[in-house]
Amino acid sequence: YVKGFVTDIGGRTSHSAIMARSLEIPAVVGTKEVTQVIAEGDMVIIDGLQGDIIIRPDEETIAVYKEKAAAFKEQQLEWAKLKDSKSLSKDGKQIEIAANIGTPKDLTGVIENGAEGIGLYRTEFLYMDSEDFPTEDEQYEAYKAVLEGVNGQAVVVRTMDIGGDKELPYLQLPEEMNPFLGYRAVRISLAETEMFRTQLRALLRASVHGKLRIMFPMIATVNEFRDAKAILDEEKAKLEAEGTEVSNEIQVGIMIEIPAAAVLAHQFAKEVDFFSIGTNDLIQYTMAADRMNERVSYLYQPYNPAILTLLKHVIDSAHAEGKWVGMCGEMAGDQTAVPLLLGLGLDEFSMSASSVLKTRSLVAKLDSKEMEKLANKAINECATVEEVIALVEEMQELIK
Ligand code: PEP
Ligand code: MG
Repeated sequence: YVKGFVTDIGGRTSHSAIMARSLEIPAVVGTKEVTQVIAEGDMVIIDGLQGDIIIRPDEETIAVYKEKAAAFKEQQLEWAKLKDSKSLSKDGKQIEIAANIGTPKDLTGVIENGAEGIGLYRTEFLYMDSEDFPTEDEQYEAYKAVLEGVNGQAVVVRTMDIGGDKELPYLQLPEEMNPFLGYRAVRISLAETEMFRTQLRALLRASVHGKLRIMFPMIATVNEFRDAKAILDEEKAKLEAEGTEVSNEIQVGIMIEIPAAAVLAHQFAKEVDFFSIGTNDLIQYTMAADRMNERVSYLYQPYNPAILTLLKHVIDSAHAEGKWVGMCGEMAGDQTAVPLLLGLGLDEFSMSASSVLKTRSLVAKLDSKEMEKLANKAINECATVEEVIALVEEMQELIK
């Protein structure tokens, strides 16, 4: 029943904002003070596309926004024509546009929007929706439902990423000064291995029902990846010894969301099957700007040349080892970033299902060779994020 929401706190990549995007609920977050300005009973227009809120609008403004809403619906119908198309650039380069999900219930949006598989299944919501640790069988059922629900397309399942802004009421973790820099994700998995092994067993059992890819979050060192992979291999061997069938085609990759992993991507690339770049965290750690903190949100700069330089190194390193690279952070569906990412050679773009068709439509207008020049120019000649935005806008004017 929720038609929209606005908040004082948070940023574009807070998980409440990400969930709103996938549920297609208009939302504006991080206004700092909106709750002090809106009174009970006020009419509010929420323009989630522009990030604008209009409180107590007059008749004329209401009419303008009704028209805007109708134009957006029409635009969506236009995009919907691309539902069953491949994702091709103007010069015929094929990429994959996949969707991010948090629960098997999100599959409806994935199918409706013609996503090419799942680039990120955030499994921690399975834990957060539960009163206690979900059992191996409960997890198996959820993973099987997702693998079967996408008609043979690939599904990248991320092992649980609890911590940061995602808490589990039944997992008592000590309070920390900096939760985003603390005990989180694979750091918990490698310490509380029983919980990790249960998840891996459920995943391995489900692997026979589709095209499974397993990914570990918040990897900072090569040894963390080796340790996690060793546990996965042990559980696979145990299941097989018990006579349980497990797929031999499972790809195992990591999220690149810690600058240390991005910088050392050329070493990681020798050992993993793929990378998925988590820009939500990678940007906050590179810029030292909390993704949840509206006071430093101006530093949350996906197109900063520093970020683009890191991305280029990650993508080139993977390609040098014959591995593919996806991106599952919100940047993958950002319309200013897409031309740059296409130019950098990103293979898979994974985003909220609601952004898939709009992105496919944008990619069809872009020449991949031209975008390569654009990305290189941004990296080699731009000093500021404003300069990069100006470059992209200039290009967008030309292709209009
Ligand atoms: C990311 O960090 O970009 C990411 C996709 O993971 P999450 O948003 O769940 O931290
Ligand atoms: Mg992350």
